[in-house]
Order: sequence, then structure tokens, then C-alpha cells
Amino acid sequence: MKIAVYPGSFDPVTLGHVDIIKRSSKMFDRVVVGVLVNTQKKPLFSLDERVNMLKDVLSGVDNVSVESFDGLLVDFVKQQGSNVIVRGLRALTDFDVEMQMAQSNRLVAPDVDTVFLATSLEYAYLSSSVVKEYARYGVGLADSVPECVISKLIEKMNQP
Ligand code: ADP
Repeated sequence: MKIAVYPGSFDPVTLGHVDIIKRSSKMFDRVVVGVLVNTQKKPLFSLDERVNMLKDVLSGVDNVSVESFDGLLVDFVKQQGSNVIVRGLRALTDFDVEMQMAQSNRLVAPDVDTVFLATSLEYAYLSSSVVKEYARYGVGLADSVPECVISKLIEKMNQP
């Protein structure tokens, strides 16, 4: 059974994330989406909100589960019975950060590998930060986030 872990902050989940999850779910027997508890960026959505939105969006995909984790990513990966980390690559700017992360993970856990999936063209410039800006300034969100995330984002932005 080949299990992959797709880690991230998912603040909130975007269609770019969903694309990477669905594509990797066809390559592996099981994909565990790992939601980072202690993200360095101060999240807009709480951990529970981020996890629940992902669960909602992925409820129709059989071999994908959503978990949260804290601490070292490679420890979480091993706990899940996996040795593969999936990450998405958009522009060159992702490359630097992702390469550094992949190399440091291999230093602490040489048997854990990182697999990169190239973004689909339509999502190449999509990020959680961009959708938060869209929501703040009333830009349409239908091409950027799953349906159920739209109302949550707007609601959050209208909170005092
Ligand atoms: P992190 O804070 O760990 O970067 P994110 O939630 O921003 O977490 O992203 C998780 C992963 O998804 C990262 O590998 C990121 O590069 C990838 N990703 C984010 N947006 C897209 C997108 N539009 N297309 C492809 N991959 C993406």
C-alpha cells in the first residue's frame, strides 16, 4: 500500500490544492492531507476550520483523508506509514523554498522522499494569500476556491 502525505497550511484550501490532491490520489493508494497546526504565518482560519473545509471538499474522494499535525513533518509522515511527501510547484519562486525544505527533510529522514507535481496552468498564480485578497476586495472567487469555501471566506472577511 503506497501512502503519500500532502502537507500545508491550507488557509484556506484552493482549487490549486484540490487539483494536486486529486492528481496524487490517482498515483498513490492513499493520500493523507496534513494540515499544519503551528503555521508560521498567522492563519485567518482556525485549525478546525481549515480541516473541516478540506474534509467537506474531499468527501467524495475515497482514498484521501485529512489529519492535522504539529512538530516535524517527517515524523508525521512516518506515523502515517508513508515515506513520500507530495508538494505542488508553481513558479520559480516556489522552487527555492521547496528545494530547501526537501533537502532538510532528507537530512533528518533519508528514507523519506519529496515528489513535486507541477501546477495545472489555470492555477499557476493561485495561492491562499491571493484568494484572501480577492475576498477582501470583492473579487469573484468561483475560479479560485471550492464552492463551500466561498461563503466561509466572505463571512470571515466581514467579521469585525
Ligand atoms: P505551505 O504554507 O506549506 O506552503 P500551502 O497551503 O500554501 O502550504 O501549500 C501547500 C502546498 O500546495 C505547497 O506545496 C504549495 O506549493 C502547493 N500549492 C499551493 N497552491 C498551489 C497551486 N495553485 N498549484 C499547485 N500547487 C500549489
